[in-house]
Amino acid sequence: MSIASNKYVIGNWKMQARHDHGLKLAREVTENLEQAPPPPFIKTVICPPYTQLSEIHKNLAHHESPSCPALGAQDCYPAPSGPFTGDISAKMLVDLGVTYVILGHSERRQNHGETDAAIRQKVKAATAAGLIPIVCIGEHLAERNEGRAASVLARQIEGSLTRGFRGIVAYEPVWAIGSGITPSREELQRKLNVIHALLPMRLMVDDFRVPVLYGGSVTAAQTSSLFSIKGLDGVLVGSASLEAKSFLDIIRAATESLSSSPS
Ligand code: PEP
Repeated sequence: MSIASNKYVIGNWKMQARHDHGLKLAREVTENLEQAPPPPFIKTVICPPYTQLSEIHKNLAHHESPSCPALGAQDCYPAPSGPFTGDISAKMLVDLGVTYVILGHSERRQNHGETDAAIRQKVKAATAAGLIPIVCIGEHLAERNEGRAASVLARQIEGSLTRGFRGIVAYEPVWAIGSGITPSREELQRKLNVIHALLPMRLMVDDFRVPVLYGGSVTAAQTSSLFSIKGLDGVLVGSASLEAKSFLDIIRAATESLSSSPS
């Protein structure tokens, strides 16, 4: 099944779960998904800190179940190797069993000064290494309030994605991340329409529909409503992915919503 026809529930742990917590969380999520597998078109991905990837991959490998979560990383460096102290290349991630990589998260854009051009280089490297990039875009509160969200999204799509992009886009309004505030259905629908209209212009191909996710204070309580929004292909979850129960509740809510309305 191509990445375009899946629905996604992706957990971004950020720098938040210490080693033992991360291993336990991955184990609990995996065991639960094995006992009650979601339909195959729902892809779950967990994105732990770099330091946990190897051990979690080894533990996941014992399960051999298609319902096991896939492994994602939270960033990669654009060069394949070289004198880049503290950095990790896309190929190194592949060596650890990683299949997805989050790129251009607003925390990296803000805290590490990542530009759209730098993110595009990472997308190239990730794709060349065989990873599926999950590129985050989204406007700041002031940009939204000044009516500039659409032009920010256009700039980020134009700058961060490659022409033949084969990956996932996560719309994460910066003001919704970690704030407990989420856009209304109407606002989210408008933004998704803008993104879906912009993507073919950037990609310059019409044979691939980029899956577009929403991220920002997602909880299980909103998941059914989110998955009924046209053009929404999944969620990128921060805080609520740090506890097995809340992450699993989101996966279950997505399953129920998508099973009752197969659009
Ligand atoms: C995120 O930062 O990717 C995110 C969605 O965080 P939260 O769910 O905590 O808002």
